[in-house]
Amino acid sequence: MSRKNNIPGLVVAAVRPLMEGLKVTLRFLFSRPITLLYPYEKRELPPGYRGLHVLKVDPETQEMKCIGCTLCARACPDHLITIETSPGEGKKRKVDVFDVDISRCMFCNLCAEACPHSALELSSRYELATTTREGLIYHKEDLLEKPSVRREASAG
Ligand code: SF4
Ligand code: SF4
Repeated sequence: MSRKNNIPGLVVAAVRPLMEGLKVTLRFLFSRPITLLYPYEKRELPPGYRGLHVLKVDPETQEMKCIGCTLCARACPDHLITIETSPGEGKKRKVDVFDVDISRCMFCNLCAEACPHSALELSSRYELATTTREGLIYHKEDLLEKPSVRREASAG
């Protein structure tokens, strides 16, 4: 049959994909959207999500639980944690520096697992993008639970 004589077949062949497309459009038009208006809306993170480190604070004394034993730093396969201490009260040591360089961090949790005092955890904080390399190094003040100094403020 020549093309000229098969006009109905050509019309069906042209309209069918259009109808299929419209069917998909209509199906999604009346269904619940799966997209979020990020950053105004945020997805609920699964339990066990590992984001930025947090230095836990004793709820009674409001002091940092970390005693500066450096076990976490030694457990990190990429040596991303820097700890400096100085003599404190009695036999205690004062943690002067606790830096985590997240530029190469795998968020593997080995550092937190190595901590014998449950002083270090990986939190659900994940918006860590920055334009500078220095911005990827988090200091003790940034990592403290309920930090008094917000990173955004210090970044200026
Ligand atoms: S999460 Fe893993 S890679 Fe990141 S600092 Fe801890 S031990 Fe190192
Ligand atoms: S292992 Fe725990 S207590 Fe020891 S330095 Fe790391 S965070 Fe502090």
